[in-house]
Amino acid sequence: MNYRVGLWVLSVLLAIPVGFASDPTEGFRRRMVETQIIQRGISHPATIRALKAVPRHKYVPPEQRRFAYADRPLPIGFGQTISQPYIVAFMTEIIDPKPHYRVLEIGTGSGYQAAILAEIVDRVYTIEIIPALGLRAGEVLDRYYDNVEVKIADGFYGWADAAPFDAIVVTAASGVIPPPLIEQLRDGGRMIIPVGSPYMVQQLMLVTKRGNRIETRNLMPVRFVPFTRN
Ligand code: SAH
Repeated sequence: MNYRVGLWVLSVLLAIPVGFASDPTEGFRRRMVETQIIQRGISHPATIRALKAVPRHKYVPPEQRRFAYADRPLPIGFGQTISQPYIVAFMTEIIDPKPHYRVLEIGTGSGYQAAILAEIVDRVYTIEIIPALGLRAGEVLDRYYDNVEVKIADGFYGWADAAPFDAIVVTAASGVIPPPLIEQLRDGGRMIIPVGSPYMVQQLMLVTKRGNRIETRNLMPVRFVPFTRN
């Protein structure tokens, strides 16, 4: 056998096991979605599809990767956290995201929630107040999506140039619902926001805009990092 044929045979033999083990994290994700998401009552098909698809381990710092699919929040540096997978799924399902939606997120953090939204809706705008986090998340998101924009700013003021939004997802706990965010929600649009004092248990609140009225509904007690101001 001449050496060219030998190399060809060798490369085919090597490719077989590599091909079989294409993505070892897929199994972790499938199990996470089964036990943490579906068994706890999340049923929105696009949300489930997105949680199965997004490689959560790519959004957490290297030293946290082995916990990426665990049933809890994880530290992402600068005193901030990536939410527990169930909370991400819950907040995504409750805004009932549709493919044509334009969604604003406040608190980019790791970029994971933005990625889940980007799998489902047309455009995602996300604002982060800590520059280093916003830049890091922007780099990861750019690799996978062309429908996400990251801005480094105080999310209290929203993103007037891109408004109105069909839905707004706030992932930091605020004592008040920022009035500019209500302003930038379209009529009939939904906002999900943890409301309450920082470092205490807050209420995850669903806010629906109806003309110049807003309806609010408390959904469950949660614990988020604080909504900070510059
Ligand atoms: N959605 C994120 C969760 C990050 S934790 C994820 O999927 O990983 C909340 C984030 O909100 C933190 O990164 C924090 O820095 C940010 N944050 C707090 N106050 C903010 C504000 N006023 N404007 C924008 N981001 C804010």
